Amino acid sequence: MIIVVGGGPAGMAAALSAAQANSKVMVVEAGPRLGGQYWRHSSVEHLDQDGAKLVSAVMSHPNIEFLFNARIWRADYRDGESTLHVLIFGKSRELTTKKLILATGAFDRTLPFPGWDIPGVMTPGAAQSLLKGSGIVAGKRIVIAGTGPFLLPVSVGLAKAGAQIAGLYEANSRNRWFPHALTVMRNAPKLRLALSFQRELKRYQLRFRGGYAVVEALKGDEGLLEAVRVAKVDKEFGIMANSEFVIKCDVLAVGWGFTADLSLAGNLGVEFKKDSDGSISVVVDQFQETSLTGVFAAGELTGIGGAELAQVEGEIAGLTAAGNVNRPKRLHRLKKRKATFARALSAAYPVGNKWMEWLRESTIICRCEEVSLSEVEKSISNLGATDARSAKLLTRAGMGLCQGRICGRSFADIVESRTGNVANDESSIKFAARPIASPITFEELAGS
Ligand SMILES: Cc1cc2nc3c(=O)[nH]c(=O)nc-3n(C[C@H](O)[C@H](O)[C@H](O)COP(=O)(O)OP(=O)(O)OC[C@H]3O[C@@H](n4cnc5c(N)ncnc54)[C@H](O)[C@@H]3O)c2cc1C
Repeated sequence: MIIVVGGGPAGMAAALSAAQANSKVMVVEAGPRLGGQYWRHSSVEHLDQDGAKLVSAVMSHPNIEFLFNARIWRADYRDGESTLHVLIFGKSRELTTKKLILATGAFDRTLPFPGWDIPGVMTPGAAQSLLKGSGIVAGKRIVIAGTGPFLLPVSVGLAKAGAQIAGLYEANSRNRWFPHALTVMRNAPKLRLALSFQRELKRYQLRFRGGYAVVEALKGDEGLLEAVRVAKVDKEFGIMANSEFVIKCDVLAVGWGFTADLSLAGNLGVEFKKDSDGSISVVVDQFQETSLTGVFAAGELTGIGGAELAQVEGEIAGLTAAGNVNRPKRLHRLKKRKATFARALSAAYPVGNKWMEWLRESTIICRCEEVSLSEVEKSISNLGATDARSAKLLTRAGMGLCQGRICGRSFADIVESRTGNVANDESSIKFAARPIASPITFEELAGS
């Protein structure tokens, strides 16, 4: 039996293509339903046409069975076989397979900045999840900031739901797409989507400002978010002189693109790579197989590329895992085109390194373990840390409840910038691999 971890666009496409190639498939999903981040919804009626079609095809296929609300907290690989340790409502279960497809997706990338731990500061993904999953509008007067095209659907969605959007700030310049105009032209659906967002922004009178970033969150007397400080920033995200202003809001949704969820891949020990923009992802061959025989990966964890690329990769992984030797060339061509667009997207929305200049000594870097910038710096200057892993052991950064999901990458970047060890430093790759993929209680651990 092929096991697919993740019921998002990549996982669904993988399960369906493998099932259609006559393999038995099990989909293991931490959430209560299929859809993943892209098709997050409270019921099938709220899905768009493509989502509804894919979800119902997967759900109704006789070769596919499902484990929902099933969180895999650890995975092991030995002698060509993967073992998955699954928790379902506190009960432990073990699954083994020789054909595993990882499609665990991504989460919002965050950057630390003064005040980012004040209640009311969240990621755009969190604001969107509240809205799409539960119909909750995160606040009354919302500022949306960071970088990436994801800021647009979040702004439009919140405005549509009745929130007042007090500001929409993209840190990269308005002209960021010019060098990639040809790639955009070749992707007509993306161009249409961009134009439709422009129309929606106009309709809800949302003013989009390029080259601005929120550099500080400010709290009021009750300890809640009251305002944010916005600054004009240069290409590297350095604050430009005399450009700062304060804007009142009760919610700030701030995000810097996405980070691949490598937790299970790290458990298994598949090979990772560090891309030119510093992001870490799983190495796969053209058929989506990882460095471990029988372990495949598809979607965001092989590199951030969006839902369409995730589906194509999922389809290829499903066919390969099912042993289909006649993989259609069409899929590989499509993958190439979508991957080119994904690279252009990543180049158009870089994260400049000067965000580190926004930090103060007291700024918390790891929120779970409350580790400040000065403690990180002391671990290097006083205690002799040479890379992210040793700094982690000396400060406990990344060892809390989220296991470094939130702070891991920024922490590694800060340590690299302070040790000056950037070129050969593989520490951020090591930092991405942890023994336990998601929080588990002692009772659950004992029970397993
Ligand atoms: C918060 C958020 C919101 C997004 N919204 C949009 C959007 O509106 N539009 C857009 O174009 N793109 C959006 N994206 C980008 C999105 O990542 C991709 O477009 C697309 O969803 C990627 O598909 P995927 O299958 O690779 O991953 P996902 O859709 O993320 O699916 C991964 C699935 O794996 C499951 N999973 C992960 N770990 C485990 C585990 N240990 N055990 C069991 N199950 C597990 C998760 O519950 C999830 O359902 C969003 C991303 C995030 C993080």
